[in-house]
Amino acid sequence: MPEGDTVWNTARVLHRALAGARLTGSDFRVPQLAATDLTGWTVRESASRGKHLLLRLAAPPPAEASGTHDGARWTLHSHLRMDGAWRAYAPGERWAARPAHLIRVVLRAARAVAVGYHLHELALVPTAEEESLVGHLGPDLLGPDWDPSEAVRRLAAHPDATIAEALLDQRNLAGVGNLYKCEVLFLRGVSPWSPVRAVPDLAGTVALAQKLLAANRGRWTQSTTGSLHRGQTSYVYGRRAQPCRRCGTAIRKEELGERVTYWCPVCQPEPSTG
Ligand SMILES: [Zn+2]
Repeated sequence: MPEGDTVWNTARVLHRALAGARLTGSDFRVPQLAATDLTGWTVRESASRGKHLLLRLAAPPPAEASGTHDGARWTLHSHLRMDGAWRAYAPGERWAARPAHLIRVVLRAARAVAVGYHLHELALVPTAEEESLVGHLGPDLLGPDWDPSEAVRRLAAHPDATIAEALLDQRNLAGVGNLYKCEVLFLRGVSPWSPVRAVPDLAGTVALAQKLLAANRGRWTQSTTGSLHRGQTSYVYGRRAQPCRRCGTAIRKEELGERVTYWCPVCQPEPSTG
């Protein structure tokens, strides 16, 4: 499950490769866009919103320029889900990141080629209608409009949900995946199975999540411990049966579909039910 910082980094890669460029070709390998040709379109910018990628484009003016339609603005939306990725290649460079059958779209410009692998929810919508795709999202942890008090308000509106579920729910706050969910709750000493109403300091939890994601912007190795050494980048995530870095207790893991949770049963005691 990609985290918000991975998507933020991906948006930046696409921005550096394509922003300002006029596309010299496009190749969509998904049925809903198979007939779409973005040749001649200009890439305005690339942005992220939570885990959603938004590549903003300007259509070329119509041939018989009437002056009314030129530069119509569209957004190419994609979502990485568990396994999607975008890569930027130099022209002529071999596309080596993933097998070719996973390619869903190719965007060519003079200085770079962007290749999208196993993308989900690929859609081309008028930029004015972007909200139809991302308007349901809660405050974006890495967005310019990050609003921690709104995130707390939305979390608190689900008092009986477990805090692990509530942090992953992108309608509450956008950008937390399994890794940050687990790490934040460990660092706060909160059991992932606590109901939201039993979490003593939601504001502190939200603030820490934002700080951890922000600290990992701009690099591909995610660390919550401050160490970038292999095997030392997390407190609990990916460390099943290994000793807790604080108390030595074996870290536990529970998996439910795409949701995986790691925690220390001693450092993160379950709230008493009495
Ligand atoms: Zn522990």
